[in-house]
Amino acid sequence: MNTRRKGGTLEVRDISKSYGSGRFAKTVVDRCSFTVEDNKLTVMIGPSGSGKSTMMRLLAGFEQPTTGSVLLDGQKVTKPSRDRLVVFQETALYPWMTTYKNVVFGPESQGRAGTKLEKAADALIERVGLGQFRKSYPNQLSGGMQRRAELARALINDPAIMILDEPFRGLDAMTKGLMQEYYARLFENSENTHLFITTDIDEAIFLADRLLIMSNFPLRLREVIDVNLPRPRKLADIVESDVANQLKATALSLLHEEAMKSFTGTHSMSRINNNPGREDSKIGA
Ligand code: ADP
Ligand code: MG
Repeated sequence: MNTRRKGGTLEVRDISKSYGSGRFAKTVVDRCSFTVEDNKLTVMIGPSGSGKSTMMRLLAGFEQPTTGSVLLDGQKVTKPSRDRLVVFQETALYPWMTTYKNVVFGPESQGRAGTKLEKAADALIERVGLGQFRKSYPNQLSGGMQRRAELARALINDPAIMILDEPFRGLDAMTKGLMQEYYARLFENSENTHLFITTDIDEAIFLADRLLIMSNFPLRLREVIDVNLPRPRKLADIVESDVANQLKATALSLLHEEAMKSFTGTHSMSRINNNPGREDSKIGA
């Protein structure tokens, strides 16, 4: 029996991340604070190049913030750990292993084995729709299937926090929609905390319990929006939902403002040198 409490709360306290020093210092994350709530699916959305993947690396513990801290259930995050797993946009499947072997690789390398693991792996492989492809190698799977295998591979470890960095980027629209529905079902049937990073507003609204709208570069929190749409969700329902469309309009207008700032270059040097510039909307006004 697994007695570990599932899920967890990730707290980001006033973190900044700069690369280089002195005159060459470049601030990528600029005094961000937010909470990734226990058992919820939080979606972080922001323009491309705004610093989201940098934030992901800080949350995962791959890198340390320059100032501020990241806490998991009150404990400071200082290094990568199996309690915070990341699914990247690039495939990380081992090409020489079958779907099944890829899925059980993590637990097996932790010393887990036996019928319980086999059953859990098979159940997950079924849930992501790869039952027929259990013995296939990654190069025999389509792009969408590979992403589903990766979801199964991450979920088998039952991490407190799942962090997904644009995992469906680059898939064609139909495959992407299918993936979003598979992923929503996985989340709805799990008790883990999820942080999903995207630039796609429809994906964000469909998936999110909470939406973190981020600024343009350097990364700051612009707004938090609760998405109180019933679950289980279907893509078709969301398209027709007035609530969803209203939320989308609100989110889009904020994102549009942020995108325009990077487009017109108003972020340029103004905040790079010791100027946190919280009142972003005034810049360039
Ligand atoms: P996003 O994931 O939102 O597209 P990233 O976090 O990948 O954004 O990167 C945002 C910007 O941060 C990059 O364009 C780059 O200018 C800067 N950046 C990221 N990592 C580094 C680094 N190691 N050194 C210097 N600059 C970096
Ligand atoms: Mg990125």
